Amino acid sequence: MMPADWHVSAACRGSAEADLFFAPQTPLNVARALEICHGCPVQTDCADEALTGRIEHGIWGGLTEDDRAAIWRQELWEAAQTR
Ligand code: SF4
Repeated sequence: MMPADWHVSAACRGSAEADLFFAPQTPLNVARALEICHGCPVQTDCADEALTGRIEHGIWGGLTEDDRAAIWRQELWEAAQTR
């Protein structure tokens, strides 16, 4: 687990392409943002923060908005199965 200040190591931090992560999720924008995420040293921490914080907007940790929504739906479904 990285320290809470993992943001300082973010590949997107200060990048000229930082706007891509919150731009309209066109195929081109998504592909380029995910390419940056996949080379990022803090990808897991970033994804964890977005998932646990239920951050709906933008690309975080190599996950699109649709990816996170699918994970949350799966978690809800699994929780319902254990009741
Ligand atoms: S995983 Fe992606 S969004 Fe998260 S800090 Fe790294 S480059 Fe930025």
